[in-house]
Amino acid sequence: MNRRDSSTRDYFPNPRPTRTERLRRRRRKQITILAILGILALILILSAVFVLKDAIGGDGEVTPDTSEVLDATTPSPDETTEPDGESDETTVPVTNPPASGYTSIILSSAEAGAGPLVLVNATHPFTFPNGDADIEKLYDANELAQAPDKTMKSLYLLAGSENISLNSTALTHFKDMCRALVTEKGYNVYVDNNGGYRSYATQESLYKTYPQTANPPGQSDHNSGYGINMAVFMNGRVYKFSDSNDACRTILAWVNANAHKYGFVRRFDPTKESQTGMPAGLDDWHYRYVGEAHAYYMTQTNLCLEEYIAVLENYYSYGENHLKFTTDTGKQYEIYFVAQTGSTTAVPVPTGKSYTVSGNNHSGFIVTVEA
Ligand SMILES: [Zn+2]
Repeated sequence: MNRRDSSTRDYFPNPRPTRTERLRRRRRKQITILAILGILALILILSAVFVLKDAIGGDGEVTPDTSEVLDATTPSPDETTEPDGESDETTVPVTNPPASGYTSIILSSAEAGAGPLVLVNATHPFTFPNGDADIEKLYDANELAQAPDKTMKSLYLLAGSENISLNSTALTHFKDMCRALVTEKGYNVYVDNNGGYRSYATQESLYKTYPQTANPPGQSDHNSGYGINMAVFMNGRVYKFSDSNDACRTILAWVNANAHKYGFVRRFDPTKESQTGMPAGLDDWHYRYVGEAHAYYMTQTNLCLEEYIAVLENYYSYGENHLKFTTDTGKQYEIYFVAQTGSTTAVPVPTGKSYTVSGNNHSGFIVTVEA
């Protein structure tokens, strides 16, 4: 059985071993094989233990669903969530009570449906508050008194009706934007009769009159109090932003380049029809107050409100990865999302820092911290 290679036999001639020697060699071989098998079994057992430990001890993180927000500017999961591998050990779990430097405030489910970041559309209807809405008329007595004549209601702003109103915070910023437009371009802004806040009753009446184009009550961005329709007033006439004359093109370009400085975004960009559900040409002149930080980021990344709310929800949860950036005016912001947990939610907010909280009317709260 011990057949040798002819070449080695020539150089290392061995005498035939004795029976005892052969038995010893066989036993030695058996022991060697057993030892190798033992080592292999040990390696297999150790590997299985490590795999099992990894599976049980992992952070259970689920890759965010990106199907809702397919945009070239949307951060990829790799950039915004903890990558797997080594850094798993440094992942900070979402804690409740909050981490050091934070304290919790308790907010109701009604508050999750209020604030400048509420997403209002056919799938996320707005719940009208029981009490008075936080709205203010476009004109105060002073401005009406200063108006040069009856048709000119203020130096920078005209409206179809003196009863048009808007959320009070949004209104302050809207007026600033209108003043800047008349100063820089010489045009007044016009707001049509139903172009500001719409109550349930107003929306219902519009829907009955124009069922093809108006939304049912609660499903219009105007119901939030943060949306406003802008038109151009010149030479005694009103022009839609989408009109193709030079003045309208100039003003549309100015508003789209500057609205974010006043906290506004174009709510229904014609190129975002698939996301917003608003057909192009139907409400192209509708602007929406979201606050300066969010308007800046949405404009820079070309995200509509539907996309932005989904990005915050999927990638920037509290305790994981907060959204941080500096605006063109040098303001530093930190933004994070807190999921609603039921009728009340403990929302972690930073201690000793200036912050605001808004519901998203969908899944929770967005905290905006100014550094
Ligand atoms: Zn509108």
